[in-house]
Order: sequence, then structure tokens, then C-alpha cells
Amino acid sequence: MFFPRNVSRIAIIAWICFFSMFVIAEEKAALDLDERRAFGYLEQICKLGPRPSASEGMTKQQDLIVEHFTKLGAKVSFQEFDTPHPKKGTPVRMRNVIVSWHPQAKERVLLCCHYDTRPFPDQDPYRPKGTFLGANDGASGVALFMELAHSLPHLKPTFGVDFVLFDGEEFIFQRDGGKYFLGSEYFAKQYRERPPAHRYVCGVLVDMIGDKTLTIRQEPNSVKHAPGVVRSVFETARSLGIKEFIARPMDREINDDHIPLNEIAKIPTADLIDFDYPPWHTTKDKPSECSGASLVKVGRVLLTWLQNVPAEVGR
Ligand code: ZN
Repeated sequence: MFFPRNVSRIAIIAWICFFSMFVIAEEKAALDLDERRAFGYLEQICKLGPRPSASEGMTKQQDLIVEHFTKLGAKVSFQEFDTPHPKKGTPVRMRNVIVSWHPQAKERVLLCCHYDTRPFPDQDPYRPKGTFLGANDGASGVALFMELAHSLPHLKPTFGVDFVLFDGEEFIFQRDGGKYFLGSEYFAKQYRERPPAHRYVCGVLVDMIGDKTLTIRQEPNSVKHAPGVVRSVFETARSLGIKEFIARPMDREINDDHIPLNEIAKIPTADLIDFDYPPWHTTKDKPSECSGASLVKVGRVLLTWLQNVPAEVGR
């Protein structure tokens, strides 16, 4: 067999070009989020109806989630526990969902949201016992993760990534009082008392990030517990020119699923939340109040951040 020297050189150059094109295409695919598809997921979840813990809508949502993430290559598992029903006292089965990417990695980053919806829209001035769909307060986080799932297999994150979908964030039947954060508290206690083989370096919680007029400021409890996470996420948003992230503090502290993660599990976790949302806990929290563009903006920040998580955020 004989090749002229210049032919083999041309072949090598062509191969390098082809390979770099392939790498560039892979990287582009990783960051290519689709607004319409993301919004479609939000609509699809809302079409299941209300999704409070242990409801029929919640079961349908669990089926949808398992199928979606498994098909895209993730390892999906449930963390289950019972809690007494706040009104009847009978046991209610709660299920946190853990969606693992690169499951072999022993150091991991937690991206989380709640996926249950409040049983009633009790802030609604006219129909406080009406139907609560929770398009922003419930479906937005799940839809964002469903969209991110297309990118995760192509991504080369600094650490392994788990999406954790908490149940029982607001299994609340009365307007004032009741126990919030059942799923995240259970998850945090299990992590502390029965440590898994992996360690969570840090976490980001998303809640109500689908608002069509999105503004995300720095949440004070997150700044206190997870300053490195807050700083690096907002710096990522600035570098991408995503103006919906404003690197200034919110005017109030938010109690959310990140509190048990920080205080019990000691996983430094920041909450990304847009609490300026008039349809909050009303029958108006519907897909028409949300946008795929908002979901994708948060998604681009998170995907870029996942590829550059600074090691010191977990210390
Ligand atoms: Zn809520």
C-alpha cells in the first residue's frame, strides 16, 4: 500500500477538521435550549390538572417524568416516605424524584425544584377553593428540567448532576400555618443521617422561574448560606448578557426548599425565585402567565454554570 506524503497529510487535516466540527456541534447541542419545547412541557404538565401530593394528577406527572428522563438517558429513582395528612391524620405517601446524570461521579451538584402543587388557590379573592394549576408555582421547575435533560447527555459538567424534584413543598390546606418543605426536609435528613456514597458540592433551587416578566434577584437566605453559589450563578448570567438576573438583593428573605438543604444537609444551596408574581396561589397561575423564553434564560445560565462550577463554592 502506498500513499503520497501530501495525501496522508491532507487526510490528517481533514480528519482534525471533521473531529473539531463534531466537538463544536456537540457543544452547541448541549446549550441549544428550545423555548417552544420548554413551554410545551409546561403546558403538558398543566394539562394533567392539579398535582398536589398523592393526587391522581401527581401520579400522572410521576409517570411522565420517569418516561421523559429515562428516555433521555438519566437514572431515575424515587425517595419515598409517609407523612400524616394535615387534616385527616391518615398516612400520605410522598415521593421525591432523583434524576441522575453521570451517576458514577462521587462529587455532585444538586439542581432542585418542587413538583407538587398547592391543594387550593387560597389567595384567590373569588375562588379560594377553585382549581389551582400551578403553572409557575409547580410546573415551571419541572418543565425547565425536562428541557435541560436534552442537553445533559452532551454536557461536560464539572461535577455529576442530580435533578431532585421535591414532593410536599406545600401540602397546605389552610391559608396560615401548616408544615411546608416536607420532601426537602426528608431528603436533607436522610443525607445527614444516612450519607450516600456521593457528596453534594452545592445546589441551586429553582421556584417560580416561568413568569413571562421574569426578574431574579439575590435571595438573602441564599446569600447567607451559599454566597459562592449566588456569586457564580449571577456572574454567569452577567457573562451571558441575561438581564433578567439582577445582581442585587431581593427586598425579603424567602423560606423555601433550600432552607433544609442548607441548615440540615449543609449543602450550600441558592434559591432562584421570582416572587413578584401577581397570580401567586390564585386560579390565574396558568400557562398564559408564563413563557418559554423565561425558562430558557434560566436554563442557559444553569447549563453554562454547570460547566464552570468553581470548586470553592462547596467549602
Ligand atoms: Zn406556592
